[in-house]
Amino acid sequence: MKIVVLAGGIGGARFLRGLKAAAPDAEVTVIGNTGDDIHLFGLKVCPDLDTVMYTLGGGINEEQGWGRADEAFKVKEELAAYGVEPTWFGLGDRDFATHIVRTQMLDAGYPLSQVTEALCDRWQPGVRLIPMTDDRVETHVVIDDERGKRAIHFQEWWVKMRASSPALAITPVGADEAKPAPGVLKAIEEADFVLLPPSNPVVSIGTILSIPGIRDALKAKTVVGVSPIIGGAPVRGMADACLSAIGVETSAAAVAGFYGPALLSGWLVATEDGPHFTSPGLEDIAVRARPLLMSDPEATRALAAAAVDLAVELSGESA
Ligand code: GDP
Ligand code: CA
Repeated sequence: MKIVVLAGGIGGARFLRGLKAAAPDAEVTVIGNTGDDIHLFGLKVCPDLDTVMYTLGGGINEEQGWGRADEAFKVKEELAAYGVEPTWFGLGDRDFATHIVRTQMLDAGYPLSQVTEALCDRWQPGVRLIPMTDDRVETHVVIDDERGKRAIHFQEWWVKMRASSPALAITPVGADEAKPAPGVLKAIEEADFVLLPPSNPVVSIGTILSIPGIRDALKAKTVVGVSPIIGGAPVRGMADACLSAIGVETSAAAVAGFYGPALLSGWLVATEDGPHFTSPGLEDIAVRARPLLMSDPEATRALAAAAVDLAVELSGESA
């Protein structure tokens, strides 16, 4: 079985861990979001790729869901003592090593996809992890606060401001000219089906879909998604702030509508959302209600298994 998964950070990584348990023999290719990438202290940081790599490779800080386990922050403290900005992005000492290796390889001329492969040699995530593109794409957020209307980097809005100023727009800058990384379209083409984990629909999956060619390639496939919204609220994080920015309601049905029936073949909603699920115009999407909380390894495996089962069922119908 060949499966392609589009993934952001925590929601994507945890789902992937469940998928590996649910389908241990499947060949899984992960197309990772790089719109959250940021240059800090001269280093290239790829938070979503690293969250996937550390989670599947056994190096993640489990409680936090991002960053390294057994981490220290001496370098961050020393940088702050020099007054070097920014101080709001938490890079630990172990994590710094990843960004140093990545930056060195990029500076030597390797594309991000090859650098990611090299980093994964160490972590052995058990999936093929490919960035959505080797080109620079950066998610920017337009806000209007006491300092006036301006566009800021997604991480400044998300991490520094905790999305406290409403986003007027969220744009993946550079996406229009970006090309899918080598292997992305081929993996989609060869996949038996594609899964969308409960990653942020706007700044994780939406950003991946904004790379020309990816959405079109998916239209030929059975695509099954998992709702990141349960009972009208994101499970963690501030996905509601991203959805409002693009005029989409924070509900499982509205997110399905945002992806649209041309893309989505199947949609898993939370058990409690099942009875209320109405979706005018989305009748072609097969909706199933399941427990969607990835609260422990078994629940996470069962969720991924439900997504695989629905995808197998639907791809059988279309074959
Ligand atoms: P990020 O890049 O680290 O923000 O992570 P993602 O984009 O991959 O995922 C963030 C999304 O995952 C949020 O919108 C959450 O609502 C969703 N999420 C996190 N944990 C769970 C869970 O246990 N179940 C479901 N259904 N969604 C979850
Ligand atoms: Ca992210």
